Amino acid sequence: MTGSILVLFDIDGTLLRRAGPAHGQALEDAVRLETGVRVSMENVPVYGMLDRDIITQMMREAGQRPAAIRAAMPGIVARAQRLYQRRCPDLRQRVCPGVRPLLRKLGQRQATVGLVTGNLSAIGWRKVQQAGLGHHFHLGAFADMGSTRGILAGLAAREARRAGWATRQTPTYLIGDTANDIAAAKQNGMVSIAVATGHYSVDELAVHAPDILLEDLRQLKLEQL
Ligand SMILES: [Mg+2]
Repeated sequence: MTGSILVLFDIDGTLLRRAGPAHGQALEDAVRLETGVRVSMENVPVYGMLDRDIITQMMREAGQRPAAIRAAMPGIVARAQRLYQRRCPDLRQRVCPGVRPLLRKLGQRQATVGLVTGNLSAIGWRKVQQAGLGHHFHLGAFADMGSTRGILAGLAAREARRAGWATRQTPTYLIGDTANDIAAAKQNGMVSIAVATGHYSVDELAVHAPDILLEDLRQLKLEQL
């Protein structure tokens, strides 16, 4: 059945905040266990980045060459996801304000709801499950599926159309907490909704001119969609 609207959510800083160090540690440990190279996220501006780009940047900082990084990437990606499956904490206390009521209302309205996130797929699904939100989501596009957030947003919309949940005319919204989320929405002709529950303030997000700009998702009225 075609949903009334398609709503796509980023995870970190949007659905959840302060999800803890387990994710970053899984990426760092996966690099070390697969390649023997010690890396650190310390100097990587991770906000809004895709996991594979974070891994690449950490390895470059540790002096690794592009060819070596490319060769090791599939093993690192698989290992990071396995590590996180085991280590992900309970995230029910980390859900951002307004998220649960919004997801409930979207369900009542028969919206199609998806994830568009820089997390690797097993990490992203695990996070929303551990937050008690997994059942709300019909689909997802993750870091292992494309090289930019814009590409991932396009993949999510295509998946919704392929499943018969949306058409090219279905109003589509992309909700995120960084400039990269806003850009991904614009690249795909989606309505961009920016929330200041992550690393960026309302003023910082305003520079990137999202269609809707909110302190947090308690302020999002379904009548706006
Ligand atoms: Mg985010």
